[in-house]
Amino acid sequence: MNAPFTPPIREDLVGIQSYGAPQLDVPARLNVNENPFSLPPELTRAMGEAVAAAAEHLNRYPDRDAERLRRALGIYIEEESGVRVPASRVWAANGSNEVMHHLFLAFGGPGRLAITFDPTYSMYPEYARDTFTAYETFPRRADFGIDVPDAVDAVLTRRPSLVLLTSPNNPTGTALPAGDIRAIATAALAVGAMVIVDEAYAEFRHAGVPSAVTLLADYPNLVVTRTMSKAFALAGARLGYALVADPRVVDTLKVVRLPYHLSGVTQAVALAALDHVDVLQAQVALLREERDTLAGWLVEQGLTVSPSDANFILFGTFEDRAVVWQALLDRGVLIRQTGPDGWLRVSIGTPEENGMFRQALLQVLGRADGTPDESGSDDQEGRE
Ligand SMILES: *Cc1c(COP(=O)(O)O)cnc(C)c1O
Repeated sequence: MNAPFTPPIREDLVGIQSYGAPQLDVPARLNVNENPFSLPPELTRAMGEAVAAAAEHLNRYPDRDAERLRRALGIYIEEESGVRVPASRVWAANGSNEVMHHLFLAFGGPGRLAITFDPTYSMYPEYARDTFTAYETFPRRADFGIDVPDAVDAVLTRRPSLVLLTSPNNPTGTALPAGDIRAIATAALAVGAMVIVDEAYAEFRHAGVPSAVTLLADYPNLVVTRTMSKAFALAGARLGYALVADPRVVDTLKVVRLPYHLSGVTQAVALAALDHVDVLQAQVALLREERDTLAGWLVEQGLTVSPSDANFILFGTFEDRAVVWQALLDRGVLIRQTGPDGWLRVSIGTPEENGMFRQALLQVLGRADGTPDESGSDDQEGRE
């Protein structure tokens, strides 16, 4: 008989639940900001061939520094944002989540502080916890922009080693003006802090909104993270990357990563996708149009919409958002309860899925023709 055993779990991890939005098999899955389109056949064929070629060499460890892939990512960024980034200033890992984890390992740690501006991405406090980095948030304005004088003051007085700026922000969709990033990066430079701009949704931004990669030349403390999970329709492949101003940042990330962290299969799949940017960009253009159409429609329904440069929309506000969320789910539409109380976030799906969302929401709001629902009437102002 074994003696009773309690695993010696780290005190700060005891009782903590693992992160994760529901993965439900419903007709419209609009809750984790995926690209809703499956990959075009020409791309899956190219990936199949690339994986077959890589498979021949799986007896060997992969290129641990993913040189070819990092070069290709730099070339993509030059085409996308007009800024040349050589491989020595590109880092790649298993999703931008892992890139961010590497950044916390390299620049956070005991006695160090990371700051950001709420509401924002719910994973940041987890990277901080895992790396024993202190974590503090400061509130965004009512319009979900960052109050620059407050932010500069926070940086100068709190003296963090990491400042996280998410643009476009999740869950609000808010893009930061370049001038705001400049002002905060200048303050960060004064206290020796890194500035990480998380651009997971960059490809969905409106025309004329610049990427923070255009600031890399001016701020040696700047890092811009991107991902292939959203615009590239590759959430399942796990590939994120960072563009950095100072190649010593990449050298340090190589120190903290696990050996051979990026599999040969992942590298092959990502390279194949970068060869087919054109087809993927057509999907992104359609999703941006759908987003703007849906935002306009939500406003017409009398709802409040946070202007979005991403592939999702935060809208509200509801007295009891859980009721609305559940009623939509009952109609086969899964969205996300996130952001400040009263708001809900919907990812942009295919035109069909967006239509299902609109139809379901009309029913839930009690405004649909035909289909009965619990509220019945058509003119109530209640928004649940
Ligand atoms: C989705 C998302 C990411 C991307 O995560 P991956 O690990 O690349 O899939 C990063 N940051 C934010 C804010 C996101 O919403």
